[in-house]
Amino acid sequence: MDCLFCKISSGEIKSDAVYEDAEVVVFKDIHPKAPVHLLVVPKEHIQSIAHLEVNHNDIISKLIYTAKNTAANLKLNGYKLVFNVGREGGQVIDHLHLHLLGGWGNAKESLNI
Ligand code: 5GP
Ligand code: ZN
Repeated sequence: MDCLFCKISSGEIKSDAVYEDAEVVVFKDIHPKAPVHLLVVPKEHIQSIAHLEVNHNDIISKLIYTAKNTAANLKLNGYKLVFNVGREGGQVIDHLHLHLLGGWGNAKESLNI
């Protein structure tokens, strides 16, 4: 399948990954909209939140839990978690991803990213 985030999560295309396990990968957004802008991406191809099925419950909680752990590891004081859904919702890449945005109140040198 010709999907950018499938290629990034499988390692076929290189990214600035900050975390990876068997189910998810977290990498830097190429056009950051915050001092820290990461994408939490399931390795399984799911098109969007609008395409979720009941068997995806575990992966959705995993995405949120991974975002929380990543934010804690980076010592973010606060952050936003965003799913864009569909073109009208601002979704450009049709592979589910959770935006983790933060770092506004952190000293730049403390971000270490
Ligand atoms: P969406 O608008 O679909 O919710 O978010 C897609 C995000 O992917 C955008 O913030 C965009 O900057 C980011 N993006 C697009 N192409 C690439 C890429 O090749 N590498 C990385 N790391 N991020 C990308
Ligand atoms: Zn994909």
